[in-house]
Amino acid sequence: MNDSYINLCYVIASAFFIIGLRGLTHPRTAVRGNLLGGLGMLIAIVVTLFSKGVVNWEFIVAGLVLGTVVGIILAIKIQMTAMPELVAIFNGFGGVASILVAGATLAQTLAVNPTPDVQMILATVASGLIGAVTFFGSLIAFGKLRGIVSGNAILFPGRHVINGLLFLAAIGVAIMMVMSPDNLLGYWLLVAIGCTLGILLVVPIGGADMPVVIALLNSYSGIAAAATGFVLGNNVLIVAGSLVGASGIILTQIMCKAMNRSLANVMFAGVGAESSSTGGPSADDVYEGKIKSTTAEEVAMLLEGVRKVVIVPGYGMAVAQAQHAVRTLSNMLEEEGVEVDFAIHPVAGRMPGHMNVLLAEADVPYDKLREMDDINPAFAQTDVAIVIGANDVVNPVARTDPQSPIAGMPILDVDQAKTVIMIKRSLSPGFAGIPNPLFALDNTLMFFADGREAIQDIIAAIKDQ
Ligand code: NDP
Repeated sequence: MNDSYINLCYVIASAFFIIGLRGLTHPRTAVRGNLLGGLGMLIAIVVTLFSKGVVNWEFIVAGLVLGTVVGIILAIKIQMTAMPELVAIFNGFGGVASILVAGATLAQTLAVNPTPDVQMILATVASGLIGAVTFFGSLIAFGKLRGIVSGNAILFPGRHVINGLLFLAAIGVAIMMVMSPDNLLGYWLLVAIGCTLGILLVVPIGGADMPVVIALLNSYSGIAAAATGFVLGNNVLIVAGSLVGASGIILTQIMCKAMNRSLANVMFAGVGAESSSTGGPSADDVYEGKIKSTTAEEVAMLLEGVRKVVIVPGYGMAVAQAQHAVRTLSNMLEEEGVEVDFAIHPVAGRMPGHMNVLLAEADVPYDKLREMDDINPAFAQTDVAIVIGANDVVNPVARTDPQSPIAGMPILDVDQAKTVIMIKRSLSPGFAGIPNPLFALDNTLMFFADGREAIQDIIAAIKDQ
């Protein structure tokens, strides 16, 4: 195939990637965006296969069939709450693909030319190193989320020094490879250093921070792929890798900002270690003698004749899989003329867009999902705020205690509602591990139950009225 036609097809594929990414910025257009991105990738794969002298079609077709079958099974079987771990393992596959393709290309090149140009060596070095960090970092992230590796931040003494030395060693090997490129062993040494770095960098990060790490590793897998694009001289791989690299880093930044934490704090502060103490007031100080619990019947009575209800979902709604019950309750209230909105905090749950995805799955209309800045002024006019499985994202301590781990994190102002119903199973803290004074406010009633059962009981109690 003529080079100009190949590049034209690659430009078309790249345009599909970009339009696809644009589609992913809104739930309404996300499915179409995903399909367009997939179409772009199909064009890129077909054109690449037909433009190269393919050595062995059997292997390629077998790989495509196997990958498609495994992908379809995984996508169908995966639970929504397990989505971050699936993304983690996919990032890892991207990293290992970069290592293998760059390594194989280097071996092939060295067989005919013992002095490849510096650009090729630098790109190979970047592919191998970043791909290895991505692969092993992603395996640890997967293990933490799956419970195979401890979800706590595992801190070991001198970790920053060890990681620094490994990084310097990687630079040393990279320089050595540029000086004497005819050295395949150097490449695998670099990969081994990258693998060790990947493990040591992710092990000291707490399990609940894994979504941020996964977004970052996603960015790394894109950078590794772009570097592999330079190794192969393949333009569409450079474009696709750069898009993944850039979008991953933007998402990482958005998540850190919404938690009011720096990336350095997520990566190096060891938040989530077993021994970590926040130093704030104890749960007893905050809650003793101030907690009022409620029942489904009492909530049903409270909801009678109200004008405005705001439902605030959090991680516990995902654990309880309560989204369908929540949707039924919201429908029932709307049929009675109540105005119902959903308040969505950008880091509610454990992955970006977690609440949006769950509520979309339950067919809650997008225009009912109100973002934090939009809904916060409305809490003062809200009769009842029903908080289901959210904790940190509604903790007023973020506004008042500069020493708190969530200090400065923008929160949903549910405490301003006339009545707050907190649905959760106990007084246990959320991810940040701190008590929540909202539970002890005069206008708060605690409904201690599993999220789905609580909502189903409220629905039954409303029907019985
Ligand atoms: P939290 O982790 O603060 O709290 C979740 C609450 O859900 C817990 O207090 C728990 O209480 C309750 N819960 C658990 N299971 C159930 C159940 N079956 N039924 C009812 N309640 C249940 O969640 P938020 O969503 O408020 O906050 C998210 C936190 O995660 C923030 O600190 C954020 O910074 C962090 N984070 C978010 C990321 C993201 O991308 N979204 C990424 C990384 C971190 P109990 O056990 O008593 O039931």
